[in-house]
Amino acid sequence: MKCALVTGGSRGIGKAICIKMAAMSYYVLVNYKSNETEANDTLSRIRENGGDGELIQFDVSSKEQIQDVLGKWIAANPDRYIEVLVNNAGIKDDGLMLWMKDEQWDNVINTSLGGFFYVTRMVLSGMLLKKYGRIVNVVSLSGLKGLPGQTNYSAAKAGVIGATKALAQEVGRKGVTVNAVAPGFIKTDMTEGLDEKEMSVLVPVRRFGLPEEVASAVGFLASPEAGYITAQVLSVNGGLYS
Ligand code: NAP
Repeated sequence: MKCALVTGGSRGIGKAICIKMAAMSYYVLVNYKSNETEANDTLSRIRENGGDGELIQFDVSSKEQIQDVLGKWIAANPDRYIEVLVNNAGIKDDGLMLWMKDEQWDNVINTSLGGFFYVTRMVLSGMLLKKYGRIVNVVSLSGLKGLPGQTNYSAAKAGVIGATKALAQEVGRKGVTVNAVAPGFIKTDMTEGLDEKEMSVLVPVRRFGLPEEVASAVGFLASPEAGYITAQVLSVNGGLYS
């Protein structure tokens, strides 16, 4: 059975990606950190649409939990193969660098960049054995441009962009593509505190994006049709570049 693993699948962009993966006929592994209610909602919505999947709870910033939970799942399911991995889980914890606490730096870096490394390394061998795989990393405009107040977040996302390009070159000949999607302002819990009306003036299409619009881009890069696209960063930002 072909599976898609989506980290941070309980809410926001990750939830929309899970639903998209199910629509693409994948058995979806819905990862989440703590919000079991929302993770169950994702699974219900997958099943309402005729798909299937299961919850897989672990903290992507913990290599021990990844080893323990994901490692055990892979070992216990030799007939199920993770063909698509979407590294979506991410947090922000903004502040000017002068006042940024160690934990703010560590938590944001360990979630996005550490999570990318430890989760991807765990599923990569299966993809290489099958000589097919799709890895899509959800990064950010902040990682391309750098945003004040987000040295931790910009560094984490820029790190994932560099790793995307490097890994793509390591595994391309094995049928595995590695790409990134860089959203701008998307309507989720993460942007809840922002004034959409005020901020939308900066966006050429004059609105925030929807999680489903990011999921469409992820779905394309995760599809067989995107086999000649690798090491790329696709912006989904309504034309907002600077
Ligand atoms: P969100 O609504 O805050 O949802 C975050 C998701 O990530 C939740 O499912 C959460 O799980 C999960 N998560 C957080 N830390 C985790 C951890 N350590 N281990 C496992 N799961 C974890 O965020 P979002 O807006 O959908 O963002 C999704 C991705 O898009 C992030 O990487 C973010 O940086 C990126 N992004 C978002 C925007 C935007 O405008 N929204 C823009 C650019 C990039 P729980 O529900 O269990 O907490």
